[in-house]
Amino acid sequence: MEERLQKVMANAGIASRRKCEQLILDGKVEVNGELVLTLGVKANPDTDEITVNGRPLRKAAEKVVIAFYKPKGVITSMSDPEGRKTVKDFLKKIKTRVYPVGRLDYDTEGLLILTNDGELANWLTHPRHHVGKIYRATVKGIPHGDKLEMLKKGIMLDDGMTQPAEVEYFDVDLEQNVATISMTIYEGRNRQVRRMFEAIGHPVTRLKRVQFGNITLQGLVRGKHRLLTKAEINELK
Ligand code: URA
Repeated sequence: MEERLQKVMANAGIASRRKCEQLILDGKVEVNGELVLTLGVKANPDTDEITVNGRPLRKAAEKVVIAFYKPKGVITSMSDPEGRKTVKDFLKKIKTRVYPVGRLDYDTEGLLILTNDGELANWLTHPRHHVGKIYRATVKGIPHGDKLEMLKKGIMLDDGMTQPAEVEYFDVDLEQNVATISMTIYEGRNRQVRRMFEAIGHPVTRLKRVQFGNITLQGLVRGKHRLLTKAEINELK
């Protein structure tokens, strides 16, 4: 696709768009062997030969976003000095370097998003953008409504007050004396869901993330991944 030359250059990691404009005006940029000295020229990074200071432009890596169903007992990291199983062990077919967007604890299973798009990763994890993450937490005992109200208002943890969470009963097992609660949060502090339930006196025994923004676990099984479509990525933002 054709785009303004300074944008193509910035996407390829040369410099900011503003600096790329200056490089063009300084006569440092050629397209298909022709010096470009004005702004507004368009180029196609896939078909045009672009050079900056005589050096060919590196093509911008294609943006990939992956939905992975992380099993329990796997660390959210691309390597582990202690030799434990990592997410990377499950993504051997992915040749692009991707990074997890936030993390899931070793003992948490469920949806993990990975991408090579740093801007998207930052966007998704910033609480201001209000991207919801839905968890299903099985907890010891059956929390009364007033305890759930505490979570809904936000709760004091040792690193400060949490934002309000959305919570509802998903399943209650009176015989086993456990409850499964669905919780939506918009932040991603370390072990946040576990700590919030701990704070109301109902420790988590099982935790699963079932949704991240508009992306669910549908169509995935434990240990498997899929690439998100362009439409899904656009909706995620
Ligand atoms: N909150 C937790 O406590 N653990 C996770 O893995 C994710 C959110």
